[in-house]
Amino acid sequence: MPDKPYMKKALFTCVVLCLSAVLLSILPEIWFSNHLKKNWNVEENSPAGPKNGRRYRLCLVFALDGVPYTMVRDLQKEGYFNGFYPPGRLVSTFPSLTRPAFSKMLIGGKPFGYERLYYNFDVNLLEGATLIGKALSTQKEHADYHPKLHFLGFPGYIAYVFPDRFTQTALDAFKTRLKHFKGDEFIAYMGISDAIAHVEGQAALIEFLKKVSDLLDTVRNDIGILLDVVLFSDHANNFTKNRRVDLSTPLVEAGFKDVNQLEKKKDFVLPENGFVSFAAIYSADENAPAIAGVLSTIEGVDFSVYRSGFSLLVQGATGTARISKRQDRFMYSRIDGDPLDLKDTIQRFKLLGKIDIHGFVHEKEWWMATKEHLYPDPLRRLWEGMHDLVQHPGTVLVSLKDGYAFGPPIFDQPIINSRAGTHGALLASHSYGFLMTDFMQVNVASRPAEVARLLGRAAEAKKTGKKLLGLDAR
Ligand SMILES: [Zn+2]
Repeated sequence: MPDKPYMKKALFTCVVLCLSAVLLSILPEIWFSNHLKKNWNVEENSPAGPKNGRRYRLCLVFALDGVPYTMVRDLQKEGYFNGFYPPGRLVSTFPSLTRPAFSKMLIGGKPFGYERLYYNFDVNLLEGATLIGKALSTQKEHADYHPKLHFLGFPGYIAYVFPDRFTQTALDAFKTRLKHFKGDEFIAYMGISDAIAHVEGQAALIEFLKKVSDLLDTVRNDIGILLDVVLFSDHANNFTKNRRVDLSTPLVEAGFKDVNQLEKKKDFVLPENGFVSFAAIYSADENAPAIAGVLSTIEGVDFSVYRSGFSLLVQGATGTARISKRQDRFMYSRIDGDPLDLKDTIQRFKLLGKIDIHGFVHEKEWWMATKEHLYPDPLRRLWEGMHDLVQHPGTVLVSLKDGYAFGPPIFDQPIINSRAGTHGALLASHSYGFLMTDFMQVNVASRPAEVARLLGRAAEAKKTGKKLLGLDAR
């Protein structure tokens, strides 16, 4: 029989372990729930309610991070998202990342960088939040997306470690806020869906979306008000396991130097952000061709793009091409190969007489011809990504192939390297978010500005209290 001190010690260890397990199982939800409450300014978000209760129409604009078009389309065929018109593809920005995409969709504005970290040439510094700073932060820079955004379901990067721990809390918070909301336009963003897609993959995201569908049914019945809903996402997720690409070592081996501050001629800054299929490199413009040349030899790099005079050069393993722009017309000139796979598109333009005498084609024709291409709307998106998407654009932008992603070396570690999906590249599998409403059929494919346009229409409709109806769907 064991002696008493031994039993006491065993009992004590057992109690400590049990208590720790209980605390670990409930603390994250409590912590997250409190943070969501802190971010919820009831006064600020209830400005215009009538004295005797709420208005009789409420427009709900609901953004779900990282949900692919095909997933919502298929779920609707199974009977979910009842009451909605069929979804259309919402083609993300390039890169197909949250900050720039949501900024374009909700306010048409420019975030500082493509991701958390970016380089600021004006002050010669790598700027943006540190990883530690973001790990437990529930404050995404949501004012960048929309000043009145209800921020739900993204408890910092810890969400990317245990996404399912926070899901129900986020969904409950959404319902509570909507119920108490007294205004007439509720704009909400839920980031947890992207964490589920990255970490747990397709099946888990489908289950989450079923909950969102049920939640929307419930609030429609519960809140006793007519609801107009705009539901959309910022980009897709490719649902492929992705291997980390080391972009720095080959550049260093080619004579460049990986730094945090540009001082010497061959210095470059390569911010390491999340685990996405995109990277931005900041360096002197004169280094761009050589950097792109090295990148084109790295396994997993699809292509890179950089400014060259008044044009862009796209360089990949399959060749090099020039993109030029004149007012609202674009030209794609193949130098060698066809890095954006546009040979057939140009052939069709020729047959249809769409190319002007200088070789340019109107951007609307490019959109119509490429909205369902392997690289949707490639010329306009690349041009925007290099010039007009963020306040601090990169010198060379890199788009990776499916199966490859870039991020800090920690993603080389076996425990976290087998993540379930990613996004960021120009590819359709990374770029097709969705857009759907319960009051009109949206286009087969839309650009991010379409959401901003719908918000404008919702603002008009709420003045009159009328249902949004039958816009000019094409
Ligand atoms: Zn996103």
